[in-house]
Amino acid sequence: MQTRGGGFANWFTPSPFSAVAPIPRLADNAKRRCYNEFMQQEFITRLPEWLQSMVDDTEARVGFPVDVAVDPQRARHRPGEPDALACELNHACARILLPHQDHFPAGSVLHELLHIRRCLVDGVPRVVDCQSCEHWSPPVAMAMAHYDNALEHLVIVPHELARVPERRAYWEAKLRNVWPALALIRHREREKRLMALANWVFLQQVLPDSACVGMARTVLAMLDIEAAAEAMHAEIAATLARKEDAARVWLNHMGVPLELAALEYTDTAHARTREVPLLH
Ligand SMILES: [Zn+2]
Repeated sequence: MQTRGGGFANWFTPSPFSAVAPIPRLADNAKRRCYNEFMQQEFITRLPEWLQSMVDDTEARVGFPVDVAVDPQRARHRPGEPDALACELNHACARILLPHQDHFPAGSVLHELLHIRRCLVDGVPRVVDCQSCEHWSPPVAMAMAHYDNALEHLVIVPHELARVPERRAYWEAKLRNVWPALALIRHREREKRLMALANWVFLQQVLPDSACVGMARTVLAMLDIEAAAEAMHAEIAATLARKEDAARVWLNHMGVPLELAALEYTDTAHARTREVPLLH
């Protein structure tokens, strides 16, 4: 039975390869109780001074604290794989989520803070699902959240690595796992191609001198998408400074109709969120 929007479910199914959780879409009226005026002392004092300054600057600009909360559901308990931090935000709150109280590494905090600053300080829109589109379905919302995360990482991670070079090992490990897995899976060819394209753009944009490049090229050749992958990276690189354009390029290469996407602008100064369909 064909369900509404069901044909779009396979664009970007969350997979073992994309363990990085995207930022959820909070309702404007989502109640996020902040008990503090600033990031809690017990957390901010654990950060290096330069990062404390960045937190202070962010709070001054957005007008509310960058809150920290422990979310035990984030703990994966996978041996050898550190639990990831996450963040959530809207026009009235920003919060960094930890898997457990003791896990607050500066590099990961910087990563989440860069996500928050892009959206709330720089005013860069997020790619979201256009809920008024007749083809909308829950998988569309999930896919858009992943696309937005992937696009943001192309900008954020180079800043992160410039400031905390040790984080390179974390991203290299993620890439090292992607390519052999893509080469081995026998089914879902379309999904494999999309994942290979997305990961190739990240590899070329963020870690072009990675030891994974050779392996990645082998997989692209196996999937017969070398030219498509090179073209996608070139177009994304040329538009990355303007999210609106990069979003269109990305969705076109993923084969996603633009009518399903919108850009969400978060305005902390006026405490409002504005959504603009990508096709208008
Ligand atoms: Zn991220």
